[in-house]
Amino acid sequence: MADDAPHERLDVIALAPHPDDLEILCGGTLAKLVAQGYKVGIFDLTSGEPTPRGSLDTRKAEAEEARRILGVPVRVNVELPNRVLMDGPDARFALATQFRRYRPNIIIVAAGRTPGASPDHLQGGLIGEAARFYSQLTKWNERFDGTEPYRVPHLVYVPFPFEAEQRSWHSQFVVDISDTIDQKIAAVKAYESQFDPTRFARVEHLIRSTNGFHGARCGYMYGELFALPTPVGAPDLVQVVCGSKGALAPVVLPAASGVLSGNG
Ligand SMILES: [Zn+2]
Repeated sequence: MADDAPHERLDVIALAPHPDDLEILCGGTLAKLVAQGYKVGIFDLTSGEPTPRGSLDTRKAEAEEARRILGVPVRVNVELPNRVLMDGPDARFALATQFRRYRPNIIIVAAGRTPGASPDHLQGGLIGEAARFYSQLTKWNERFDGTEPYRVPHLVYVPFPFEAEQRSWHSQFVVDISDTIDQKIAAVKAYESQFDPTRFARVEHLIRSTNGFHGARCGYMYGELFALPTPVGAPDLVQVVCGSKGALAPVVLPAASGVLSGNG
Protein backbone atom coordinates (compact mmCIF):
# COMPACT_ATOMS: atom_id res chain seq x y z
CA MET A 1 0.00 0.00 0.00
CA ALA A 2 1.72 3.18 -1.15
CA ASP A 3 0.84 5.77 1.44
CA ASP A 4 2.70 9.06 1.43
CA ALA A 5 0.19 11.15 3.38
CA PRO A 6 1.47 12.53 6.71
CA HIS A 7 0.33 10.38 9.60
CA GLU A 8 -0.82 11.47 12.99
CA ARG A 9 1.51 10.23 15.65
CA LEU A 10 0.21 7.31 17.78
CA ASP A 11 0.89 6.79 21.48
CA VAL A 12 0.51 3.02 21.28
CA ILE A 13 0.72 0.53 18.42
CA ALA A 14 -0.43 -3.02 19.21
CA LEU A 15 0.56 -5.66 16.68
CA ALA A 16 -0.15 -9.33 16.05
CA PRO A 17 -0.33 -11.64 13.03
CA HIS A 18 -4.10 -12.07 12.65
CA PRO A 19 -7.21 -9.91 13.02
CA ASP A 20 -8.78 -11.27 16.26
CA ASP A 21 -5.44 -11.99 18.05
CA LEU A 22 -5.25 -8.60 19.74
CA GLU A 23 -8.92 -8.53 20.66
CA ILE A 24 -8.44 -11.81 22.55
CA LEU A 25 -5.07 -10.92 24.06
CA CYS A 26 -5.50 -7.29 25.07
CA GLY A 27 -8.79 -5.89 23.72
CA GLY A 28 -9.75 -4.71 27.19
CA THR A 29 -6.56 -2.72 27.57
CA LEU A 30 -6.83 -1.20 24.09
CA ALA A 31 -10.38 -0.01 24.82
CA LYS A 32 -9.22 1.34 28.16
CA LEU A 33 -6.28 3.22 26.62
CA VAL A 34 -8.68 4.88 24.18
CA ALA A 35 -10.99 5.86 27.05
CA GLN A 36 -7.97 7.29 28.87
CA GLY A 37 -7.30 9.58 25.91
CA TYR A 38 -4.34 7.83 24.29
CA LYS A 39 -4.08 7.51 20.53
CA VAL A 40 -4.05 3.81 19.74
CA GLY A 41 -3.55 1.79 16.57
CA ILE A 42 -4.13 -1.90 15.87
CA PHE A 43 -1.71 -3.32 13.33
CA ASP A 44 -2.57 -6.71 11.82
CA LEU A 45 0.47 -8.22 10.13
CA THR A 46 -1.69 -10.35 7.80
CA SER A 47 -5.30 -10.58 6.61
CA GLY A 48 -5.74 -13.73 8.69
CA GLU A 49 -7.09 -15.48 5.59
CA PRO A 50 -7.49 -18.09 4.31
CA THR A 51 -9.23 -19.89 7.17
CA PRO A 52 -11.76 -22.75 6.99
CA ARG A 53 -14.82 -20.52 7.46
CA GLY A 54 -13.66 -17.02 6.57
CA SER A 55 -13.04 -14.97 3.45
CA LEU A 56 -11.00 -11.83 2.83
CA ASP A 57 -14.07 -9.58 2.67
CA THR A 58 -15.74 -11.13 5.71
CA ARG A 59 -12.63 -10.96 7.86
CA LYS A 60 -12.00 -7.36 6.85
CA ALA A 61 -15.55 -6.37 7.78
CA GLU A 62 -15.30 -8.23 11.09
CA ALA A 63 -12.00 -6.52 11.92
CA GLU A 64 -13.57 -3.14 11.18
CA GLU A 65 -16.54 -3.95 13.42
CA ALA A 66 -14.20 -5.05 16.24
CA ARG A 67 -12.20 -1.82 15.82
CA ARG A 68 -15.41 0.19 16.10
CA ILE A 69 -16.51 -1.68 19.25
CA LEU A 70 -13.16 -1.07 20.97
CA GLY A 71 -13.19 2.57 19.85
CA VAL A 72 -9.67 2.29 18.42
CA PRO A 73 -9.26 5.02 15.76
CA VAL A 74 -6.60 3.41 13.55
CA ARG A 75 -6.41 -0.14 12.18
CA VAL A 76 -3.75 -0.96 9.59
CA ASN A 77 -3.16 -4.19 7.72
CA VAL A 78 0.55 -4.62 6.98
CA GLU A 79 -0.35 -7.13 4.22
CA LEU A 80 2.25 -9.77 5.00
CA PRO A 81 1.26 -13.35 4.07
CA ASN A 82 -0.94 -15.40 6.43
CA ARG A 83 0.04 -19.00 7.30
CA VAL A 84 3.55 -18.55 5.88
CA LEU A 85 4.48 -15.48 7.90
CA MET A 86 8.24 -15.59 8.45
CA ASP A 87 10.65 -13.23 10.11
CA GLY A 88 12.98 -11.88 7.44
CA PRO A 89 14.23 -8.61 5.97
CA ASP A 90 11.16 -7.79 3.86
CA ALA A 91 8.73 -8.34 6.74
CA ARG A 92 10.93 -6.21 9.00
CA PHE A 93 11.09 -3.41 6.41
CA ALA A 94 7.31 -3.45 5.96
CA LEU A 95 6.52 -3.19 9.68
CA ALA A 96 9.34 -0.74 10.46
CA THR A 97 7.97 1.51 7.72
CA GLN A 98 4.73 1.68 9.70
CA PHE A 99 6.65 2.54 12.89
CA ARG A 100 8.45 5.33 11.01
CA ARG A 101 5.12 6.67 9.72
CA TYR A 102 3.18 6.56 13.01
CA ARG A 103 6.12 7.16 15.43
CA PRO A 104 4.59 5.39 18.46
CA ASN A 105 5.84 5.84 22.01
CA ILE A 106 5.02 2.23 22.87
CA ILE A 107 4.59 -0.91 20.79
CA ILE A 108 2.68 -3.86 22.26
CA VAL A 109 3.89 -7.06 20.57
CA ALA A 110 1.96 -10.34 20.77
CA ALA A 111 4.57 -12.86 21.82
CA GLY A 112 4.86 -16.58 22.28
CA ARG A 113 5.30 -20.01 20.70
CA THR A 114 1.91 -21.66 20.21
CA PRO A 115 2.47 -25.24 18.96
CA GLY A 116 -1.27 -26.02 19.01
CA ALA A 117 -2.06 -22.95 16.92
CA SER A 118 -0.54 -20.94 14.07
CA PRO A 119 3.26 -20.73 13.83
CA ASP A 120 2.65 -17.16 12.60
CA HIS A 121 2.35 -16.15 16.26
CA LEU A 122 6.01 -16.80 17.06
CA GLN A 123 7.19 -15.22 13.81
CA GLY A 124 5.05 -12.12 14.38
CA GLY A 125 6.75 -11.52 17.72
CA LEU A 126 10.19 -11.83 16.13
CA ILE A 127 9.21 -9.44 13.32
CA GLY A 128 7.94 -6.93 15.89
CA GLU A 129 11.19 -6.95 17.85
CA ALA A 130 13.34 -6.73 14.73
CA ALA A 131 11.22 -4.00 13.11
CA ARG A 132 11.60 -1.89 16.21
CA PHE A 133 15.38 -2.07 15.77
CA TYR A 134 15.23 -1.53 12.00
CA SER A 135 12.99 1.51 12.40
CA GLN A 136 15.86 3.59 13.79
CA LEU A 137 18.42 2.70 11.10
CA THR A 138 19.94 5.53 9.08
CA LYS A 139 21.05 5.59 5.43
CA TRP A 140 18.37 3.06 4.39
CA ASN A 141 15.34 5.32 3.87
CA GLU A 142 14.71 3.81 0.44
CA ARG A 143 14.03 0.46 2.13
CA PHE A 144 11.33 2.10 4.25
CA ASP A 145 9.34 3.84 1.52
CA GLY A 146 11.32 7.06 1.96
CA THR A 147 10.40 7.53 5.63
CA GLU A 148 12.81 9.01 8.15
CA PRO A 149 14.45 6.96 10.95
CA TYR A 150 12.48 6.71 14.17
CA ARG A 151 13.44 5.00 17.42
CA VAL A 152 10.51 3.34 19.23
CA PRO A 153 11.19 4.07 22.92
CA HIS A 154 9.24 1.25 24.59
CA LEU A 155 8.42 -2.40 23.89
CA VAL A 156 5.73 -4.33 25.79
CA TYR A 157 4.93 -8.00 25.28
CA VAL A 158 1.43 -9.41 25.49
CA PRO A 159 1.85 -13.18 25.90
CA PHE A 160 -0.28 -15.69 24.01
CA PRO A 161 -2.16 -18.14 26.24
CA PHE A 162 -1.07 -21.78 25.76
CA GLU A 163 2.53 -20.63 25.39
CA ALA A 164 4.80 -23.66 25.04
CA GLU A 165 7.53 -22.18 27.19
CA GLN A 166 7.73 -21.02 30.76
CA ARG A 167 9.13 -17.53 30.29
CA SER A 168 11.17 -15.75 32.87
CA TRP A 169 10.08 -12.27 31.85
CA HIS A 170 12.06 -9.56 33.62
CA SER A 171 8.83 -8.03 34.79
CA GLN A 172 5.12 -8.54 34.41
CA PHE A 173 2.16 -6.34 35.11
CA VAL A 174 -1.60 -6.64 34.91
CA VAL A 175 -3.92 -3.97 33.56
CA ASP A 176 -7.32 -3.71 35.24
CA ILE A 177 -9.92 -4.30 32.51
CA SER A 178 -12.95 -4.75 34.76
CA ASP A 179 -14.61 -1.78 33.02
CA THR A 180 -13.88 -2.92 29.47
CA ILE A 181 -14.27 -6.71 29.62
CA ASP A 182 -17.71 -6.54 27.99
CA GLN A 183 -16.34 -4.39 25.15
CA LYS A 184 -13.57 -6.94 24.69
CA ILE A 185 -15.99 -9.87 24.55
CA ALA A 186 -18.19 -8.01 22.06
CA ALA A 187 -15.16 -7.27 19.85
CA VAL A 188 -14.20 -10.95 19.79
CA LYS A 189 -17.80 -11.88 19.00
CA ALA A 190 -17.61 -9.67 15.89
CA TYR A 191 -15.51 -12.44 14.29
CA GLU A 192 -18.47 -14.66 13.50
CA SER A 193 -16.59 -16.41 10.69
CA GLN A 194 -14.04 -17.63 13.23
CA PHE A 195 -16.31 -18.27 16.19
CA ASP A 196 -19.67 -19.91 15.59
CA PRO A 197 -21.88 -19.97 18.72
CA THR A 198 -20.27 -23.16 20.06
CA ARG A 199 -16.71 -21.93 19.53
CA PHE A 200 -17.57 -18.48 20.81
CA ALA A 201 -18.89 -19.94 24.07
CA ARG A 202 -15.55 -21.69 24.57
CA VAL A 203 -13.53 -18.58 23.72
CA GLU A 204 -15.61 -16.43 26.05
CA HIS A 205 -15.07 -18.97 28.81
CA LEU A 206 -11.32 -18.95 28.12
CA ILE A 207 -11.17 -15.14 28.15
CA ARG A 208 -13.23 -14.68 31.30
CA SER A 209 -11.33 -17.34 33.21
CA THR A 210 -7.87 -16.21 32.06
CA ASN A 211 -8.59 -12.52 32.64
CA GLY A 212 -10.35 -13.39 35.89
CA PHE A 213 -7.26 -15.23 37.10
CA HIS A 214 -4.81 -12.52 36.11
CA GLY A 215 -7.07 -9.83 37.52
CA ALA A 216 -7.55 -11.64 40.81
CA ARG A 217 -3.79 -11.79 41.33
CA CYS A 218 -3.84 -8.00 41.56
CA GLY A 219 -7.18 -7.47 43.22
CA TYR A 220 -9.15 -6.73 40.04
CA MET A 221 -12.24 -8.45 38.71
CA TYR A 222 -10.60 -8.88 35.28
CA GLY A 223 -7.07 -8.14 34.13
CA GLU A 224 -4.79 -8.57 31.13
CA LEU A 225 -1.20 -9.72 31.59
CA PHE A 226 1.76 -7.94 29.98
CA ALA A 227 5.53 -8.31 30.26
CA LEU A 228 8.59 -6.16 29.70
CA PRO A 229 12.04 -7.03 28.35
CA THR A 230 13.58 -5.13 31.27
CA PRO A 231 12.94 -4.68 34.99
CA VAL A 232 10.58 -1.83 35.84
CA GLY A 233 12.47 1.33 36.74
CA ALA A 234 11.19 2.89 39.94
CA PRO A 235 11.91 6.54 40.75
CA ASP A 236 9.38 6.23 43.59
CA LEU A 237 9.11 2.91 45.44
CA VAL A 238 5.84 3.86 47.13
CA GLN A 239 4.16 4.81 43.87
CA VAL A 240 5.09 1.51 42.22
CA VAL A 241 4.10 -0.66 45.17
CA CYS A 242 0.89 1.16 46.04
CA GLY A 243 -0.10 1.63 42.40
CA SER A 244 -0.85 -2.08 42.33
CA LYS A 245 -3.30 -3.67 44.68
CA GLY A 246 -0.89 -6.56 44.53
CA ALA A 247 -2.85 -9.13 46.52
CA LEU A 248 -5.42 -11.87 46.09
CA ALA A 249 -8.88 -10.71 47.16
CA PRO A 250 -10.78 -8.70 48.03
CA VAL A 251 -12.16 -8.84 44.49
CA VAL A 252 -15.54 -7.18 44.44
CA LEU A 253 -17.91 -9.57 42.73
CA PRO A 254 -20.92 -8.20 40.83
CA ALA A 255 -23.26 -9.71 43.44
CA ALA A 256 -21.14 -9.03 46.50
CA SER A 257 -21.57 -12.02 48.74
CA GLY A 258 -18.42 -12.10 50.79
CA VAL A 259 -17.45 -15.38 49.15
CA LEU A 260 -13.84 -14.33 48.82
CA SER A 261 -13.39 -12.80 52.25
CA GLY A 262 -11.02 -15.55 53.24
CA ASN A 263 -8.94 -14.21 56.06
CA GLY A 264 -7.46 -17.48 57.26
ZN1 LIG B 1 -3.68 -15.81 15.53
